[in-house]
Amino acid sequence: MIKKEINFDVSSLTSIGTGGKCLYFLKIENRKSLLDTVIKLTVNSVKFIVIASGTNILFNDGFLNIAVLKLGKEFNYLQFAKAPKIIAGAACNLQKFIVDCARHGYDFSFLAGIPGTVGGAVMGSSGGNDNSLNDYLQKIKYVAVNKNKVENKTIEIKNASKYRFFNVADLAVLTDIILQGKKEDRELIFKKIRENIKIKRAKQPLNSKNAGCFFKNIKGFYLGTGEMIDKCGLKNFSYGGARISNKHANFLENHTNASSKDLLILSKIIKYFVKNSFNKELEYEV
Ligand SMILES: Cc1cc2nc3c(=O)[nH]c(=O)nc-3n(C[C@H](O)[C@H](O)[C@H](O)COP(=O)(O)OP(=O)(O)OC[C@H]3O[C@@H](n4cnc5c(N)ncnc54)[C@H](O)[C@@H]3O)c2cc1C
Repeated sequence: MIKKEINFDVSSLTSIGTGGKCLYFLKIENRKSLLDTVIKLTVNSVKFIVIASGTNILFNDGFLNIAVLKLGKEFNYLQFAKAPKIIAGAACNLQKFIVDCARHGYDFSFLAGIPGTVGGAVMGSSGGNDNSLNDYLQKIKYVAVNKNKVENKTIEIKNASKYRFFNVADLAVLTDIILQGKKEDRELIFKKIRENIKIKRAKQPLNSKNAGCFFKNIKGFYLGTGEMIDKCGLKNFSYGGARISNKHANFLENHTNASSKDLLILSKIIKYFVKNSFNKELEYEV
């Protein structure tokens, strides 16, 4: 089953709430429809992207000549197989995943408070430098596109830590994630979840329209990107409707009806100041 909309306003799909209209928005409920859709789009040379909860995406303004795909029901599940195997659909909510895993004694508390889905978290290697969800990957299932060949694929992940920067060349749509959990005392996991949520609430602007960290941290540099931007004196600085968060300077907010262009110009101002002050080139995270 597919729900199809034409000339769809993509700003409604993202947490930052900006962007123009796309050619098609397709909500795809099951595997057969997904494969058929990807075949059709590929054969007709229609470019597409997948969106999950849209908490780490910035669309351009104006008309976007692409199809935007969103996975529905059949991809929103979580199963606990013979320990330590956990199977999640790509559309499974990340916070539900963490809490249900904790109930089964698996510790993913380092992801507590991060919005989004399991699929989005794998694609973005969510977590951080110390602990990433992708360190636990055992297998993934996805729809692969290679030139005009479209097929369902399953791959074994041999060295999970290599997938910190997730890059599977022919992956078009991630559908299922098989992980190897790590057992821990349940009470301790829930305690860590509560603590991590508390830290996130204190440090991140969770009540504004934003897309999480806008720039990547620079590996091995003694300052985080937010700290660098802060040291440039840019907290609260705004351009158009876009503003640098007062709480965490690596979060750019849609403050008052910002366009994606406002956010991009603001991001360029940040890049300029950081380059001048620290001689570092910032890379986009969104
Ligand atoms: C307030 C706030 C706080 C945040 N804090 C953190 C944090 O502390 N740490 C952290 O790591 N992140 C953080 N983020 C970023 C974000 O929440 C995570 O990266 C999240 O895992 C993205 O999940 P999503 O479902 O929203 O993915 P989306 O934003 O929808 O997609 C992210 C990317 O993955 C691709 N994608 C998604 N699903 C699929 C799929 N099934 N197949 C193929 N491609 C797919 C999309 O095309 C896109 O490129 C934060 C975001 C916000 C808004």
